Amino acid sequence: MTSVADETLAAISHVPNALGRFGRYGGRFVPETLMFALDELDTAYRGAIEDPAFMAEFHEILNEYVGRPSRLYFAQRLTAAAGGARIYLKREDLNHTGAHKINNAIGQALLTKRMGKQRIIAETGAGQHGVASATAAALFGLSCKVYMGVEDIRRQELNVFRMQAMGTEVYGVTSGSKTLKDATNEAMREWMSSVEHTHYIIGSVVGPHPFPRMTRDFQSVIGVETRQQCLDQIGRLPDVVTACVGGGSNAAGMFYPFVDDAEVELVGVEAGGRSLKAGDHAATLTYGQPGVLHGSYSYVLQDPDGQTADVHSVSAGLDYPGVGPEHSYWKDAKRVRYCNVSDDDALEAFHECGRLEGILPALETAHALVETMRVAAKRDKDDVVVLCFSGRGDKDCAEVARVMAAKKAK
Ligand SMILES: *Cc1c(COP(=O)(O)O)cnc(C)c1O
Repeated sequence: MTSVADETLAAISHVPNALGRFGRYGGRFVPETLMFALDELDTAYRGAIEDPAFMAEFHEILNEYVGRPSRLYFAQRLTAAAGGARIYLKREDLNHTGAHKINNAIGQALLTKRMGKQRIIAETGAGQHGVASATAAALFGLSCKVYMGVEDIRRQELNVFRMQAMGTEVYGVTSGSKTLKDATNEAMREWMSSVEHTHYIIGSVVGPHPFPRMTRDFQSVIGVETRQQCLDQIGRLPDVVTACVGGGSNAAGMFYPFVDDAEVELVGVEAGGRSLKAGDHAATLTYGQPGVLHGSYSYVLQDPDGQTADVHSVSAGLDYPGVGPEHSYWKDAKRVRYCNVSDDDALEAFHECGRLEGILPALETAHALVETMRVAAKRDKDDVVVLCFSGRGDKDCAEVARVMAAKKAK
């Protein structure tokens, strides 16, 4: 018997190359001052994942504290409503803190301790990565500061309170569109001056090498478990696996262990926003061009001058103009199909999932649910579609209520 830890290690052995390139994407586009820190991080990371004691501690915390493995749940009433393939939910919403972000935060916080650092910083959009980082900081006795756009602070009041209650400082970012991109800029800027004693926990599969690989590896526990649960519960691999894509970490963690299974169709769902006009959406892989954002070469939504475009999504976690380099690689290789879903359709799926299953999805997850229902409807009753149910909807309730009231008033 191999353990989940062994399988995670086995699954992560091929891309990226030593320079952090996924084909033409990825790499490192950062000021000289960060190169040394990134080399140091890469060395520490490679040492850690080859150290059985590190991986054992990581998986022990995931099991005992986070509550893994998360369930693979057959959603009977969603299946009936779609009227086609069987729909299963990989319940990352049941993790401690309510989303997949905690997997990566625990991994990187453990690495912080291993590097002898006492302090972490993080950026956050929906607040879930901030909460996950604040949680890991409390668990390991690290000090923590989270950068968050003031627009997101407004949308995600509850998560701001949670972080502060766990002893984390939340810093309101007022530059640019005051959302995730700006929070990431600000956190990177701080890291350049504090790197000696501080680790920057990036919350998705973005940023300079080794972040995209490292975050994917820590999140791969999702796909490794799902693969095994499918074999145990349905006796074979699924036909389709879906996930929402903001920066792309829940999707990368889910997809990666299936990448070599050519018979498994992989579908990534981005934010279609309020329209497909520039500035109204965050569908980076459909409407972006290759470029550099936050230290990595990948698809980026850009204006005609090549400046990073403004984006919009009803869900703060998808409201990001970039995407992880491995997704760009999978897109060009046609290994993953990427599509997008509108704000309105996601809002409807949020309510439908609540009414049919008694489960409120995060608005991010609701985007992937819409495409899951569409895919299931077109498929045979014996087919299986697995949705990476990235998080729970509690954090979005106040914002959904506000948006629905504003719609009614129109
Ligand atoms: C942050 C978040 C996302 C988007 O981030 P990815 O890196 O694309 O996974 C999706 N779902 C939930 C619940 C989140 O909190």
